[in-house]
Amino acid sequence: MRTLKVETGRPYDIIIKNGIIDNCGEFIKKVSKAMRVAVISDTNVFPIYGDKVVNSLTNSGYQVYSFTFEAGEKSKNLTTISKMYDFLAENHITRTDLIVALGGGVTGDMAGFAAASYLRGIDFVQIPTSLLAQVDSSVGGKTGVDIGAGKNLVGAFWQPVLVLIDSNTLDTLPPYYFEDGMAEVIKYGCIKDKSLFDKLEKVNAADCIDDIIYNCVAIKRDVVSRDEREKGERALLNFGHTLGHALEKINNFTSLSHGQAVAIGMCMITKASEKAGLTEKGSAKRIENLCKKYNLPTYSEISKTEIARAASSDKKTNGSSIKLALLKEIGESYLEKIEISKLEDFISE
Ligand code: MG
Repeated sequence: MRTLKVETGRPYDIIIKNGIIDNCGEFIKKVSKAMRVAVISDTNVFPIYGDKVVNSLTNSGYQVYSFTFEAGEKSKNLTTISKMYDFLAENHITRTDLIVALGGGVTGDMAGFAAASYLRGIDFVQIPTSLLAQVDSSVGGKTGVDIGAGKNLVGAFWQPVLVLIDSNTLDTLPPYYFEDGMAEVIKYGCIKDKSLFDKLEKVNAADCIDDIIYNCVAIKRDVVSRDEREKGERALLNFGHTLGHALEKINNFTSLSHGQAVAIGMCMITKASEKAGLTEKGSAKRIENLCKKYNLPTYSEISKTEIARAASSDKKTNGSSIKLALLKEIGESYLEKIEISKLEDFISE
């Protein structure tokens, strides 16, 4: 078992331990005096882990209620949130009670947003079950939903009271989901940790996934502790995401997974920054090869004009300019402000 402490406004622990799902109640009991717990999950994850979590919570003395929604990014909207509110109210979940988010990124983002807003905020615990959620979305307190105009445009910063990571859950996922998370893992190597990047090139990530999760979570924890509300450094975590989000939006959040879109985004932006003389030569090629190793796409047929247009409505735009996370070299990143009108030129070959 390994524990990482996150020193945000309200500090909390991230515990990484195989099999922790089976006795999650014991760990939750240490941080929550709730009477009632609402477990929020989706139709893929709940059938696999729901009983374990509910039993463990019940054994720890909680009254447990569970809510499941249709799995997938399509559910990540205010309609589902509204159903969650009704469910929480019907089951008399009060301000001192607790929400447990059991699932991948979509579940964590939505359950977290429900926790942030229901009764003006109640405690919640993250039990991320996908690699993407374990290394990224469950840490840092970003919660929210998609709206027609874009991904994650409505939400709140709301820190969990505890994060429990059980890498055994990765064994039950189709490889596609593992690869999806690997894009974020590669991202951490790119922006902060050359030795992680080197390691991912050499080993098979699945063979040492606990170490890799720990490594990634520690990087994210450090960044988020220094910049909880994304005033500066935290934006480095968006490496590959400005173009990635644009691609997801163009594809209507359907044909590309988040990780696939981020992989293409990282390759595309690094090719561009390399061409502009901002990034060490050869970096784009290394990222491309590493993405390919983990079955991630590195290229999109969509025109640069369309991608630039979609990216210009990204929430990270600041009036007429956009802050791009770029690499100086593998393992070192920085933020570069660029005029939106020049983005298309910048990414065109
Ligand atoms: Mg991401």
